[in-house]
Amino acid sequence: MRSSIRVRFAPSPTGYLHVGGARTALFNYLFAKRMGGTFILRIEDTDRSRYQEDACKEIYESLQWLGITWDEGPDVGGAYGSYVQSERVDLYRKHAQQLLESGHAYRCFCTPQRLEELRNYQEKNKLDPGYDKQCRNLPAQESARLLAENTPHIIRLKIPQDRVVAFNDLIRGAIEYKSAVLDDLVLMKTDGFPTYHLANVVDDHAMEISHVLRGDEWIASTPRHVLLYEAFGWTPPIFAHMPVILSADGGKLSKRKGAASVLDYKNQGYLPEALFNFLALLGWSLGDGDEREKLSQEELISVFSLGQVSPKASVFDEKKLEWMNGLYMRERTSISLAELVVPFWKQKGWVPNATPVSDTTLVKVIDLLKERSKKIVDMVESATYFFIAPVQYEEKAVRKYFVPDAIKILADLCELLSKAESFEHAALEALYKNYGDSLGIAFGVLIHPTRLAVSGVSFGPGLFELLEVLGKEQVCSRLQTAIAFIQNAVATRTES
Ligand code: GLU
Repeated sequence: MRSSIRVRFAPSPTGYLHVGGARTALFNYLFAKRMGGTFILRIEDTDRSRYQEDACKEIYESLQWLGITWDEGPDVGGAYGSYVQSERVDLYRKHAQQLLESGHAYRCFCTPQRLEELRNYQEKNKLDPGYDKQCRNLPAQESARLLAENTPHIIRLKIPQDRVVAFNDLIRGAIEYKSAVLDDLVLMKTDGFPTYHLANVVDDHAMEISHVLRGDEWIASTPRHVLLYEAFGWTPPIFAHMPVILSADGGKLSKRKGAASVLDYKNQGYLPEALFNFLALLGWSLGDGDEREKLSQEELISVFSLGQVSPKASVFDEKKLEWMNGLYMRERTSISLAELVVPFWKQKGWVPNATPVSDTTLVKVIDLLKERSKKIVDMVESATYFFIAPVQYEEKAVRKYFVPDAIKILADLCELLSKAESFEHAALEALYKNYGDSLGIAFGVLIHPTRLAVSGVSFGPGLFELLEVLGKEQVCSRLQTAIAFIQNAVATRTES
């Protein structure tokens, strides 16, 4: 049986889902799963001026990619639907009407011009900003007349005077606001749509939300919501506001610094399980001296608690995300990584489009690269020489390894390799060893120039594995090119 814990992630489809939003969704999800409760996705799309057509699709895709699934929501349905606020407008109108009738709300006919003049006046005279409540005291008759004339208007909540509004935040503790600092909240707009505040409170009540877990930026709205609950005669849910996320330099997250969209991370080839784990640590930790950071989704569900969420700002450390991604990459099979990497290689034109991602050679390349890569994109640049013969060689390594003696060595090796019956790495290693032993040449003297010749650089995966993947033809042709390069360099050096 499900517990009575019901939480929701309630994004507004005004743009892409960024990491802050994803963290909010994730904490709600973990809390619901941990408590055996219900996780709900609700689309808050009543701000029609900021509505973006594709945003919902992107939100669903981002959450699904991260592995966050909802028990009730727009596509899956549920007993409390619709889960899209623009489909529930009648409900909000009915509730606004109810507040008008109970005397908790009033119609405000002030024009946008009047409100702007008021703002300017307040600014000029260094007065506190806010609505001056002119329409709050409008005689009932006058209000009825304006309404009958279809005068555009909004509906505002009558914020009680001289009250202290208190609520307990599970993460931040006891919070109090003086009602005098709260503006008469707009509930319904001239376009007939509710504001976020009204729709949010009506739905949290109607959907029997037990805990509201949301970002810190909503904390100032909460006392207003508490008053709304009070006006309706409803018990508010439990509130928990999650700490703000800062960029590594302590500033606000921006698109450049961490606030990229979830799908940007996907497109860069980050692994969802790594981002999931990383986001869980933005403000939450195991505590009790338990320093573990790498936790799977199941582990996180079994240990997550709101009590361990810190009220302190958390820092989005991109380097840590990379590190964590590296850990998860090493756990993945090469075939599953191939699904992510090979499209990049195809884009580069290195691999024909028709080649299946499970192609054995491609998977072998991934075997060789995955230990030293932190991100999928790392396996793009560093894979260049698997597909394209080097066009230049690392300068320092040239001076060290492309010495005159290397000409004969590489030529001998090329000869032996071209006749090799097996191009399997163990056989190649034996071939090198025999050759070295027969001439009394150290292994390194053979290996370094070979690596430089075939890859253009002095580092990389195991040489014999690399040769095996490249295959006889490529290896011999690259050795020939390198021999010519060294001959040329030697000749130039002697001339000068
Ligand atoms: N629609 C709000 C947002 O976009 C939801 C805030 C809340 O969770 O109450 O973040």
